[in-house]
Amino acid sequence: MDVEITVKRAYAGPVGLDMQDLDATAESDLARQLGMAVRRFVELFGADWRPVDPYDGQHDRDETWYIAGDPPQLMLAVIAGGVILARPRGRWDGVADLRWEPIDERALPHGAEDEAPTVVADLLRRRRSAFRYCPYCRDLTGPESWTEGACMGCAAKWLGVVF
Ligand SMILES: [Zn+2]
Repeated sequence: MDVEITVKRAYAGPVGLDMQDLDATAESDLARQLGMAVRRFVELFGADWRPVDPYDGQHDRDETWYIAGDPPQLMLAVIAGGVILARPRGRWDGVADLRWEPIDERALPHGAEDEAPTVVADLLRRRRSAFRYCPYCRDLTGPESWTEGACMGCAAKWLGVVF
């Protein structure tokens, strides 16, 4: 005899929005520092933020920078009066370490959050305009990883470039 069992579960919200997971993200940290809801932060600045150290301790600036995108497309730091947005520039520190520095920095004071989409769009447009597709693997490649007309991986593999 077949017995059909139906388990009723309480609706737990959209998949992937477990609040405990959300509390442990860089986005929730940054939103808290800015005194705004996580959802509002992500609407304004996007997601996938991870901390980077642009200066390797070699600078007197002490703000914590975050970077987002693959290839990286935007940088952000929370400061006392608001937030700084910037365009990432990759700089090779030897052959193995790619360091990301903020350029085109734009300060966005508290209360000026409505200007964020315009600033973000402008920085993204400038950064993305430097991306190219590798003719070999077809990966979207930033200028920091472009050499001899290919991405660095393909330059080494197919063109014999030694780094
Ligand atoms: Zn390639």
